[in-house]
Amino acid sequence: MCLRPTTRRRATRNHHSRSSARRGRSGIFFPVSPTSRDSCRIGANIATNATGEDSFKYGPVRPYVEQLKILLADGSEQMLSRKDEARSWELGRAGLYLDSPNPIDLFIGSEGTLGFIAEATLSLLPAAPQYFSLLLPFPSVAAGLTFLIAIAKRETPFRPRALEFIDTAALSYMRRAPDFPDMHQDVKSLVYVKQEYATEAERLSTLEAWYHALLSVTPQRLMEWMLTAETEADQERFRKFRHHIPAFLNEEARQYWAQGGGKVGSDWWVPLHHLEDMLDFFYRQAADAGLFAMAYAHLGNGHPHTNLLPKNAPERATAERILEACCKRAVSRGGGLAGEHGVGKIHRNYLSLQHDHEHLIRMQRLKEAYDPNGLLGRGNIFGDQFIDIV
Ligand SMILES: Cc1cc2nc3c(=O)[nH]c(=O)nc-3n(C[C@H](O)[C@H](O)[C@H](O)COP(=O)(O)OP(=O)(O)OC[C@H]3O[C@@H](n4cnc5c(N)ncnc54)[C@H](O)[C@@H]3O)c2cc1C
Repeated sequence: MCLRPTTRRRATRNHHSRSSARRGRSGIFFPVSPTSRDSCRIGANIATNATGEDSFKYGPVRPYVEQLKILLADGSEQMLSRKDEARSWELGRAGLYLDSPNPIDLFIGSEGTLGFIAEATLSLLPAAPQYFSLLLPFPSVAAGLTFLIAIAKRETPFRPRALEFIDTAALSYMRRAPDFPDMHQDVKSLVYVKQEYATEAERLSTLEAWYHALLSVTPQRLMEWMLTAETEADQERFRKFRHHIPAFLNEEARQYWAQGGGKVGSDWWVPLHHLEDMLDFFYRQAADAGLFAMAYAHLGNGHPHTNLLPKNAPERATAERILEACCKRAVSRGGGLAGEHGVGKIHRNYLSLQHDHEHLIRMQRLKEAYDPNGLLGRGNIFGDQFIDIV
């Protein structure tokens, strides 16, 4: 099955209902494109160092921030600008970012705890090349994952813009999206790709390269389920298919709230060479506990959204233990706790898994200096008594 249209139009840019910069109407665009882009705000993207579908090629928000106007807790304003310090492309590790000499980096990812971002100057990119999107079908989670990791590690000439994964559980939600094709049940996982191209010849050659790469690892009978989207309308359909995963999951989780259950999710990431081991650990722990488990999203960056769906309070306690064990393991393998959401109020007690005592003390001193009365971003990162140092 192919969603390819007969007439091709210029590819859609990243939409953001409250930021025209992302639309690229003026021939420039902001490449960080969270799945929540229709509702989230730029200030909050900076405050969480957000990532998105296209972060495989374009990274998180941090390297694009040039200048911030901050409103401080005492009501004063501060302008912070980039100088020529190195810009980190690393995903979040949780808490305040202390590795840069420039205080602008301190505010990026600080979850509103040090000051309010009132204005931001971002570096925008020249209009991105056109791209097509693909959903590549695999007969198992392992097969899809191995393919994705091989592509992510390779410096191919057709390095994609987005490289995401959808496991069997996530695909079961995607299958429920209106308009989703009646994909064969033997398809157990998908790799979601966005591929840029500059010319018609490049479009054809990259499309063919993806087809052959898939053909070499997936059974011929599943090849007809490789879906292609090239128009804005079809790409928007893919985006909606993808968006239905968290939307349906959240809806389902709600029915367990009354019994103390619901979604238990995490935001850890690891260097790519640890991803298979991490997911194997996650799935095994969940299976042993009899919990519904799902992993999807930005796996090209070693950053899955792993979710468990406990039905009641005892199951929830088990799910939280499993995710804490995953976070510990991710940190021990050189990764981070909070790839894009920050630790907020729910995971702030995990900070000591990531950082040593000295680092936590430095964070606390900064919080005390910028916000001595604890007025800002209340409950994020820092508890009522400031940081929960154990
Ligand atoms: C369906 C769904 C999909 C998502 N997909 C992604 C994704 O792909 N990538 C991603 O990174 N995130 C994603 N998110 C999470 C969230 O949308 C992002 O983290 C986003 O960056 C936060 O934007 P918001 O407007 O939703 O934030 P809010 O929830 O309003 O705020 C987030 C944090 O930022 C702080 N904050 C907000 N505005 C400011 C400001 N002006 N100054 C200082 N601090 C501020 C708040 O205090 C809060 O701690 C998703 C969420 C949902 C529901």
